[in-house]
Amino acid sequence: MDYDLVVIGSGASGEAAAYAGAEAGRKVAVVERDLVGGLCSFWACMPTKTLLDSARRRHDGVDYPWERAAARRDWMISRERIDYPDDSGHVKGLEGAGVEVVRGEARITGPGHLEVSANGNGGRARSLEIGSLVIAAGSTPFIPPVEGLAEAGYWTSNDASSARDLPSSIVILGGGPVGVELAQAYARFGVKVTLVEGSRLLAREHPRTAEVVSAQLEREGVDVRIGAHAVKVGRGGAGRIVELADGTTAEGAELLVSVGRRAADLRAMGVEEAGGRLTDRGLADHDEHLSIGDGLYVAGDAAGGLQFTHVADYEGRVAAANAIGRPYALDLESVPKTTFTEPETGAVGITVEEARRRGIDAFEVTQDFSVTARGYSIEPPWPSDTAILEGSPGHVTAVVDRERRVLVGAFAACPGASELIHEGVIAIKAAIPVSVLADTIHAFPTAARVFGNLMLDAEKQLR
Ligand SMILES: Cc1cc2nc3c(=O)[nH]c(=O)nc-3n(C[C@H](O)[C@H](O)[C@H](O)COP(=O)(O)OP(=O)(O)OC[C@H]3O[C@@H](n4cnc5c(N)ncnc54)[C@H](O)[C@@H]3O)c2cc1C
Repeated sequence: MDYDLVVIGSGASGEAAAYAGAEAGRKVAVVERDLVGGLCSFWACMPTKTLLDSARRRHDGVDYPWERAAARRDWMISRERIDYPDDSGHVKGLEGAGVEVVRGEARITGPGHLEVSANGNGGRARSLEIGSLVIAAGSTPFIPPVEGLAEAGYWTSNDASSARDLPSSIVILGGGPVGVELAQAYARFGVKVTLVEGSRLLAREHPRTAEVVSAQLEREGVDVRIGAHAVKVGRGGAGRIVELADGTTAEGAELLVSVGRRAADLRAMGVEEAGGRLTDRGLADHDEHLSIGDGLYVAGDAAGGLQFTHVADYEGRVAAANAIGRPYALDLESVPKTTFTEPETGAVGITVEEARRRGIDAFEVTQDFSVTARGYSIEPPWPSDTAILEGSPGHVTAVVDRERRVLVGAFAACPGASELIHEGVIAIKAAIPVSVLADTIHAFPTAARVFGNLMLDAEKQLR
C-alpha cells in the first residue's frame, strides 16, 4: 500500500483531513489538480472579504481607489504581479506536516485504487494503492439553463472576486451570500449593479435579515429585482442584456452568475466503482461518520451539505478521524451562517416556522436593533447626503423551545453580527438553559447585550 490515507482535493476540507491524518502518524497524500489551498483561499472567502473591507473604507469616505483594493486583494490571494495565484505557502505547510502533495486529477478505479493524471507540468500519471480515501473535491458553480447565456458569456464568482479591472456595470443573477456581498463591494466602487433574485435575498437567513440587507443595498444604489427570473441573455447594450420573465430587462457590461454551487461530480470520479453510495441525483449518501462505503469518506462542499469553509474544515477533521479508525460523529445542529455585507448578518439553527414544522413548541423573541443603546450609538451606513438622525438598522432574534427551555435558533443583522452569532452557536451546541443565558451579564452597550435582553424576555415568557 502506498498511503494509509489519500485525500482528493486540498481546499479547506482536504487540508484539514490531510493535517489530521498526518498528525495521527499516518502516511498521507493529498491529490490536487489545481491550486493547493482550494476555493476559499484564492477565489472565495478571502478575496471577497478583503474587497468588502476596502469597499467599506471607501463608503466611509476614505480616498480608496479600486487599484488599491485590487492590489490588496492580490496580496491576499498570493497573486501580486503574476497572473495566477501562487499556492507554494499551502504546499510548504502540508509538506512540513509530512503530507505528500501529488499534482494531477484523481480518479477512483476500484476499491483501494486511484489513478492520478499527469498534470502537464512535468508531472507523471500515477497509480496509487491506498488504505482509506477522503473525497474533498469541492463544488462547481451551477449555471442555469437560460437561453443565450453560454453564447453571451458570463462571469462566475471566481472572475468577480479576482477582477483587476472594474466593469462599468454588472448584472448579478442570484441574491444569496455571494451575490449580495459582491453587489455591495462593486456598488461601493461606483459600479452600476442590478441584482436579480427569484425568491428573496439571503433565502436561508431570517426574513428580517433579508429586509435589512435589501434596504441597505437599495440605499446604495443597487437595483434589486426580487421575484425576477432571467429567461434569455443576449449581447448588446452595455455588454449583456438579460430578459426577465416579467418582461423587463437588465443590462450590464458584465453578467455574474451566482445562483449556487453543485457538489463535485462523484459519479464521474469513479466513486461507484469503488463501492461508494450515491443518491439518485449522484450526491454522496453519507452516514453520520461521513462514510459512503468501506474506507470511503466525503467532506466539505463535495459532501453535498452546507457550503462554508468552517463546515468544510470540520468535516475534513471528522472524515479523517473516522478514516483512521477514531470514530467521530457529525454534529451540524449549530453551524453559524454569516454574510459580510454592511450590516453583517449571522444565523444559527432554525426559524420559528421551521421549529413548528418539526413539531417543536417554539416562540420567537426579537428586537429592532436601531432602537437599542448599541443601535443608537452607531451611525447608519447611509450615503453621506442622507439624514442620519436615527439608529443603525438591524435586528436580533432568537427562537426558543418552550419545552426544553433552550434556544433552537438565533439570527442577527447588525454591526458585528458575524461575531455576535457565536453566542447563539454555543447556546445551541451546549443546550444552555435560557435561564442561564438570561442570568449572564452582557457588556453595555453591545449587540451581545441586545441578545442578553432578549433572553430576559424569553425567560419571562417561560415562567
Ligand atoms: C465567492 C464565495 C465566497 C465565499 N465566502 C465564504 C465565507 O466568507 N465563509 C465561508 O465559510 N464560506 C465561504 N464560501 C464557501 C467556501 O468557499 C466553501 O464552502 C469552501 O471553500 C469549500 O471547501 P472544500 O474543501 O469543500 O472545497 P474546495 O476549496 O473547492 O476544494 C476542492 C479542491 O478539490 C480539487 N479537486 C476537485 N476534483 C479533483 C480531482 N478529481 N482530482 C484532484 N483534485 C480535485 C479542486 O481543484 C479544489 O482545489 C464562499 C464561496 C464563494 C464561491
